Amino acid sequence: PAMRIDVVTVFPEYLQALDLSLIGRARKRGRLDVRVHQLREWTHDVHRTVDDSPYGGGPGMIMRPEPWGEAFDALAPAEGPVPHLLVPSPAGVPFTQRMAEQLSTEPWLMFACGRYEGIDQRVIEHAATRMPVTEVSLGDYVLFGGEVAVLVIAEAVTRLVPGVLGNAESIVEESHTTGLLEAPLYTKPAEWRGHEVPEVLVSGHHAKIVRWKRDQALLRTARTRPDLLAATPVGEFDKHDRA
Ligand code: SAM
Repeated sequence: PAMRIDVVTVFPEYLQALDLSLIGRARKRGRLDVRVHQLREWTHDVHRTVDDSPYGGGPGMIMRPEPWGEAFDALAPAEGPVPHLLVPSPAGVPFTQRMAEQLSTEPWLMFACGRYEGIDQRVIEHAATRMPVTEVSLGDYVLFGGEVAVLVIAEAVTRLVPGVLGNAESIVEESHTTGLLEAPLYTKPAEWRGHEVPEVLVSGHHAKIVRWKRDQALLRTARTRPDLLAATPVGEFDKHDRA
C-alpha cells in the first residue's frame, strides 16, 4: 500500500516540487499518496485570516488554532486511523537519518507548516490527545516557514520507502546510513583538467577498493565531522581501522 502524506500550508505552491523527479514518479506509480491542502480553506471570515497578535506581547504574528483544529478534524476524522503529525519548528527535535528511517515505515504522515512566528502551541497539545505528534527541527537556524522543511523531510523519508528509489542498494552505503560520511565519488573521464581519478579505483582490485573507500570515509569523517566518528561504537570499527 502507498504511504500517505498530507501537507497543510498557506503556500501550497511551495510543495509543487513534490510533483517532480523520483517523488513525482512514485506518486504516478501509486507508491506515494501526497495531498497538499490550503489552510485557509478552514477559515470562515472574508479575509481568510490565519494569524493574530501574540498573547504576552512580542513581535510578529502567531497562527490561530481554529483553522488547524478544523483541518485536522477534516483530514483525520475521530473514528478512523490517525497519521503521525510532524510539525517543523526550530524548537523541535533535530531531524536525522535515524528518524527518516523510522518515519519511512509509517503508513501516514501529516505535516503542519508554520509561518510568521509559528503556531499556537495548543494546536500541538490538542493534536497530541488524538495522534502521535513530533515537533521536528531541520537544524540550528531559522527559516521563514515550514514548507522547505517539509520538502527536506519528505524527500529524506520517501527515498527510504520501498519502490520509490530505483536502486535500493544506493541507500545502504550512504553517508549517515553507515554512521560515517561517504568516500569521494568519481566517474569518467579518468583524467580531467590534469586531475586524475585515484588509481586504486581503476585497478579492478575489489578488496583494495573496498579498503580505500573505507579509509576515505574514515578520513573524511575525522576531518569534517569528528563528532560522528566519536559517536561511532568501537564495535563498528574493523581490525584494519584500528591498525
Ligand atoms: N518563532 C519561532 C522560534 O523562534 O522558534 C520561529 C518561527 S519561523 C520564523 C516560522 C516557521 O518556519 C516555523 O513555525 C517552522 O514551521 C519553520 N521553521 C523555521 N526554522 C525551522 C527549522 N530550523 N526547522 C524546521 N522548521 C523551521
